[in-house]
Amino acid sequence: MTTRTVIEGCAIATVDATGTEYRDGHIVIEDAWIVAVGDGPAPDKAGGVGTSNYRRIDGRGRLATPGLVNCHHHLYQWATRGLAQQATLFEWLVELYPVWALIDDETCWAAARAGLAALARSGCSTSTDHHYVFPRHAGDLLEVEIGAAASVGLRFHPCRGSMDLGRSDGGLPPDEIVENRDAILAASEYAIDRFHDPAPGAMVRIALAPCSPFSVTRGLMTDAAELARRRGVRLHTHLAETLNEERFCQEHFGVRPVDYLDELGWLRDDVWLAHCVHIDDAEVRRFGATGTGVAHCPNSNARLGAGIAPVADLIAAGAPVGLGVDGAASNEDGGLASEMRAALQFARLAGGPQAMTARHALARATIDGARCLGREDELGSLEAGKLADVGLWRIDGLDGAGIEDPVAALVFGATQAVELLLVGGREIVEGSELRTVDESLVADEIARASRQLAAKAEARV
Ligand SMILES: [Zn+2]
Repeated sequence: MTTRTVIEGCAIATVDATGTEYRDGHIVIEDAWIVAVGDGPAPDKAGGVGTSNYRRIDGRGRLATPGLVNCHHHLYQWATRGLAQQATLFEWLVELYPVWALIDDETCWAAARAGLAALARSGCSTSTDHHYVFPRHAGDLLEVEIGAAASVGLRFHPCRGSMDLGRSDGGLPPDEIVENRDAILAASEYAIDRFHDPAPGAMVRIALAPCSPFSVTRGLMTDAAELARRRGVRLHTHLAETLNEERFCQEHFGVRPVDYLDELGWLRDDVWLAHCVHIDDAEVRRFGATGTGVAHCPNSNARLGAGIAPVADLIAAGAPVGLGVDGAASNEDGGLASEMRAALQFARLAGGPQAMTARHALARATIDGARCLGREDELGSLEAGKLADVGLWRIDGLDGAGIEDPVAALVFGATQAVELLLVGGREIVEGSELRTVDESLVADEIARASRQLAAKAEARV
C-alpha cells in the first residue's frame, strides 16, 4: 500500500538545473519519493488506486525547498561547546584533544542526538559526520552515532575518521588518541561491511576520512584512498583550513597542502574536502578540473578566525561547494540554515554584493552538497524521481512577511527553524518541533554528558 502526501499552496524553489520556481505550487509524494512537482494545485487530490494513506499539507504562506545537506560535522564535539573561546585552530585543538580522549559511547550518543536534532530543526535532512576520535575501551562509536541518526530520522553519511600521527612522531594530537594504521584500515573496512548501503534511497552511507595533514601519516592517506576506491565509497578530510597548516605541510612535506593531496591521489571527483580557505588561484582551478568537492564552513571559519574560502572562484572553476556546520565546539550554533546566510555574507565580504545570490546560497546548501556526497541523482532538488526530503519554511510570519521574494526571505531574513521537515516522506519536524525525539530530553542528556565529561577532564588534571 502506498502512502501519498500532497503539499499545496506553497511557493517552491525546486533548485533543479534551470532554477524552476513556483509562486503557488504543489508537490506530490508517494512513500519516500517525489512523483510530481508543478504549478497550482495537485492534479489528483483524491489519491490513486491502492493508496491506503492520503495526507494533504496546506502550504499557504510557506516556501518549500529541498532538505538541506550538511557536508561536514563532528557530532561528538557537541559535548565540548563553549570552550577555548579565543583560540586559533591549533590552540583550540591542543586544548580540546585531552578532553576528547575521555569520550565514550554515552557521550557520543548524547552529542550525536543533540547535534542531529539541531540540524533537523534547521531544515537539514542529510548530514555527514566526521568522527576521528576512537579512545580505547570507548565502545563502538560509529555504531552509536548511526543509532542516534536513526532515532532522529536523518539520512546519514558517517565518515570513519582516523588519526595515526601522534605528537611523538611530529603530529599535533597527543599519542593517547591516535590509532595504529592497520587497526584503522581494518575498522574502516568493517564499517563499510556493516553499514554502507549503496542502494537507491539509502539512509546510511559510509565514507573514509583520515583527519588532517597534521594528524595523519602519508601512508594512511594512501591506504585509505586505495581502500575507499576498492570498496566504492567516498573520501573526505580537512584541508587548507589555516596558515599554520600550510606552514606544517611546507615544513614536513616540502609542499603546500593542495600539492600534498595531489601527490597522494586525493584530488578527484570522489573526494570532498572541508574548509579549503587558504588556496590560491591555480589551486582553485585544479579543484574545478578534477571535480574535487569542498565543504565550506563559514561560521566555524569565523569562530576560529581562519579566513574566508574563495567560494565564488571555486564555483566559477566548476568545483562542487556544499556547506558544513563543522564541529559544534567551533560552531556552537550547529544549524545549517545559518550557514546558508553566512556563506552569502562571507562571499560578499570577500568579493562584493555580486559574489553570491540568495539562490546560489540555497544551491550550496542543497544540490551542491548532494554533489559533494555523490547523491545528486536522488537528493538536493525537488523533482519527480528524487527522494522526498523537503523543508517547508514559514514566510508569512514576522520574520518573512512583506518580503516579496520568498528565497530572499529565507536566506537574507532571520534564521528560523524549519516548520516541516520530511525525510523520505517521513515527518521529522512538524510545527517547528521535532516529532521523532523529545527535544527537552535530548537537551537534558547532552547537558549531563557535557558535565560528566568536564568532570572527568578536571579529575585527570
Ligand atoms: Zn572539521
